[in-house]
Amino acid sequence: MTTAVYPGSFDPVTLGHLDLVERACRIFDRVVVAVSNNSSKKHTFSVAERIAMLENAVRAIPQAEVDTFSGLLVDYLKHQKATTVIRGLRAVSDLDYEFQMASMNRRLYPKVETVFLMPDEQYTYLSSSMVKEVARMGAPLDGIVAPFVARKLRLKFKTPVSR
Ligand code: ADP
Repeated sequence: MTTAVYPGSFDPVTLGHLDLVERACRIFDRVVVAVSNNSSKKHTFSVAERIAMLENAVRAIPQAEVDTFSGLLVDYLKHQKATTVIRGLRAVSDLDYEFQMASMNRRLYPKVETVFLMPDEQYTYLSSSMVKEVARMGAPLDGIVAPFVARKLRLKFKTPVSR
């Protein structure tokens, strides 16, 4: 059984993240979407809120499960008995940071392979921070996040849908 870990902030999960989970599930038997609990980063949603949104979003994907981890990703990989990390590459702008991270993880745990997946073109410019900007302005969120996540964003920013 092949397991891959897809780590990230998921603050909140977007349809771009989900596109990647679906792609990963076509390659691996089991995909663990792991919310990083890294207190040095400032997040809009708590870990519990991010997990709840992810669980709702991946409910229809049987191979996908949601978890959280703190500390080093390589330690979490060992705990999951996994050596594959999934990360997304949207544009060239992602490359530098992703390469640094993949190289560091490989240095810390030589068995690790990072697999980069490309989302569907329509999600190339989608990020959690962009989604939050749009939500803050009260613009429609259809086609960029799941309806459940859109509701959570509206509640968080107290914005009605402007149409
Ligand atoms: P992190 O803070 O770890 O970068 P994110 O939740 O922002 O967490 O992203 C997690 C992973 O998902 C990253 O590899 C990122 O490149 C990827 N990702 C984010 N948004 C998209 C998207 N729209 N399409 C494809 N991959 C994405």
